[in-house]
Amino acid sequence: MHDVDMTRALLLSLQDWRSSHAPRQPRVSRVLLQVGRFTCVEPEQLRSTWQAACTGSWLAGAELAIEEVALLGRCLPCGATYSPQAEQGYRSPCCGHPLEEILQGRELRILSVDYLLPDADSEADPTPDLHARPADAAGAASAGHGAGSDTPGPARAGAALLTAPASSTLRR
Ligand SMILES: [Zn+2]
Repeated sequence: MHDVDMTRALLLSLQDWRSSHAPRQPRVSRVLLQVGRFTCVEPEQLRSTWQAACTGSWLAGAELAIEEVALLGRCLPCGATYSPQAEQGYRSPCCGHPLEEILQGRELRILSVDYLLPDADSEADPTPDLHARPADAAGAASAGHGAGSDTPGPARAGAALLTAPASSTLRR
């Protein structure tokens, strides 16, 4: 999976998670992700994509920690477990069998999220719809709060990846 798609999926999951806390707003300090070696995700690249995508959003400053999982396969003819190597074409060292069964190495999941959950009372405006997509948010902004001219609008969110900045801008 491409690191941009990966980041997008990650952000969507986190937004779902975040809205489950509404109206309270979790402040995330760290996200621990498990990434299998067979996913072709480059941790360094993923981290920089993540950082760029989170800048200016509710996730700004949150660290992305990555736990890599080695690739492990099972040789079908003999049942042995082995670590497939690209140089050997991922064949089993015992029987020279092609890699057919992957035991681990395809993981892509959030293991944990470190966060604080401040009380909702702090300057609590009733939260606008957290599920609003950028387009909806734009519509709501111009239709609903016509007076608010302090924000340059959803275009400011920039990164096409993110739906978060649009709604967090709206909340101010
Ligand atoms: Zn074998």
